[in-house]
Amino acid sequence: MKKTEVKVNINCHKCKSEVLKAVTKLQGIDQVTADAAKGILTVVGEVDPVCVITRVRKTGKDAEIISVGPPKKPDPPKPEKPDNDPPKPLPLSCPQCQYVVVSYAPDDGRICSIL
Ligand SMILES: [Zn+2]
Repeated sequence: MKKTEVKVNINCHKCKSEVLKAVTKLQGIDQVTADAAKGILTVVGEVDPVCVITRVRKTGKDAEIISVGPPKKPDPPKPEKPDNDPPKPLPLSCPQCQYVVVSYAPDDGRICSIL
C-alpha cells in the first residue's frame, strides 16, 4: 500500500470526474481523491504510479508525479495558515474538456497489464 500524489490541472467538475473515473479503473486502487484547488490527485493503493500518470494523460491532461510514499506520513503536516477563503466552485466544464470530449476514444484499460 502506498500513496501517490500526482499534479493535474483540474479546471472544472468535468475535469475532476474524468480524472477520477480514469484512475479508478486501475487495478489495486484503494482510494482516489482530487483536490481541484491545489491541482493534486492523490491515489492510495497498490498501483504503479506510471499507470496512474498514463491514465490521467489519456483524459487529455498533463500529469506529473509529485511524490510516492507510504499512505501515512511519518511526520504530521505543519499547520498551514488559516484558509479563510472558501474554495471557488468549479465550473461545470472548461475549454480543455470540450476538446477532450471531441477527441475522447474509449480504451479497454489494459494499458497497464504489464504488471
Ligand atoms: Zn474541465
